[in-house]
Amino acid sequence: MRGALKQIHQALMDVGVGYITYVPGYPVTDLAQSLGAEIAVNEKVAFECALGASATGVRSLVIVKQLGMNILADPLAISATHTTGAGIVVLVGDDLGPRGSQIEMDSRFYGPLTELPVLDPSAPDLYRAVTEAFRASEELSIPVILRVTSDVLEDASTGPVTGAGMPPSLQQTPRRFDRSIWDLTAKGRHQRHLANVVPALSEASESSARLDLRGNAGVIASGSVVPLAETVCEETGSSLLVPLYSHPLPMRTIERFLGMHRFVLVAEGPGPFIESHLKGVRGRLTGHLPCGCIRADDLRTAISLIHISDLRGRVEVETAAGRPARRSICEGCPFLPLYTALSRIDAPIAGDAGCTILSLRMGAVDMVYGLGSSIGVASGFRDKGIAIVGDYALAHTGIQGLINAIWHRKNVVVGVIWNRVAAMTGFQEVFDLEPVLRALVPDMRIVEMPAPEQEIERILIDGLRSPGVSLVIFKGTCTRPTIRSDEGSSTDEHGIS
Ligand code: SF4
Repeated sequence: MRGALKQIHQALMDVGVGYITYVPGYPVTDLAQSLGAEIAVNEKVAFECALGASATGVRSLVIVKQLGMNILADPLAISATHTTGAGIVVLVGDDLGPRGSQIEMDSRFYGPLTELPVLDPSAPDLYRAVTEAFRASEELSIPVILRVTSDVLEDASTGPVTGAGMPPSLQQTPRRFDRSIWDLTAKGRHQRHLANVVPALSEASESSARLDLRGNAGVIASGSVVPLAETVCEETGSSLLVPLYSHPLPMRTIERFLGMHRFVLVAEGPGPFIESHLKGVRGRLTGHLPCGCIRADDLRTAISLIHISDLRGRVEVETAAGRPARRSICEGCPFLPLYTALSRIDAPIAGDAGCTILSLRMGAVDMVYGLGSSIGVASGFRDKGIAIVGDYALAHTGIQGLINAIWHRKNVVVGVIWNRVAAMTGFQEVFDLEPVLRALVPDMRIVEMPAPEQEIERILIDGLRSPGVSLVIFKGTCTRPTIRSDEGSSTDEHGIS
């Protein structure tokens, strides 16, 4: 087992976590499956199940990829002042690159938004981060966000798992939800949070930061960049500050660090989260570090040019044509005739996350706004168009778009790619929604795939000509043999899961 995964496993075992749930997606699928986590239909439901477990005294963990934070944001924000029971941690995987996502989102920004703590460990710090996250969660009755990046999870070091021992609060029987919070109003709960929880988190942030003082220049490093920064700081005689908490930041320590150094570089990713909180530092915003993954040479160059205040220049924007696609629709895919038929149809076509993204270069779909989005998007087209959605995406959040379309008598053809697995994230079984769909749209059509392109084209054009919601289920069996381990859960230049 990879070093990073080993650290997380050991910490969860020591903490006594009793419930783990997840939504598959790069870069967290491997971790979740190695833990035997329970798959959830979407991230909001996963987090709600974990809240229920926490309320009844079960320490719980929710594992999602960065885009999943957007789905669970509602109960997450509410739970901050609502309070929880036993420790509850959201482990979110940010995709540096990105390699298997449509965007390079930085989940740390959910810290200030929800007023919840965010820990951002490097791989060697994972054990400490997991135990600290559960300690803070259970002692303060809040969920804690544990942000890891793809580089951290892929760390293959084989060093021993070391921890400072379990915090005393985690050695006791896990807490349960305390109803007395309802003695306070919503405003009172927020006041309590600001008066009690935030200062306690600030102290935890200060005491967990690591400082290594050396020279006139300093580096503040977070997450996967830390091991590189340690090497480069030693080479260049620079000081290093490593906060474990990205939110709240250890501001007293940081201000002291800034005061002691003439120049300070912030090395983090994927976004300029810490840098955007500080004045006069160097980093991505000043052009000292590139967008995407940071390498040791990037750090060396940035430190050698740290005396220059602004290095922003022309950015070479990466194009799909300039980078060979890592994947396209698999050879022998039973749904290939559908994509070919779609590429010939003159109507707006909304695609969805999943295999459909692989068809973008074929011109099969026009836009993809994320998992479960296509039916809602196509419902807004000026003239009747087509939504293509996979069966997992439909269960995830697409079904609400379908209900809305039926409710408001939208004109939309819904084509469901039905293979009963989440093919791009590791063939997880998908819940069978066919009876639900039949109840919602009694005259739905079923097409066994592969079917002739002309027949598929005719069915879709018939659908475009008749008013209302037209539902076609394209049933086939995924022929993709397996996912290579280096693919993670996804993959092509457009991002999948
Ligand atoms: S993973 Fe399966 S469903 Fe997706 S393109 Fe490949 S064969 Fe088709």
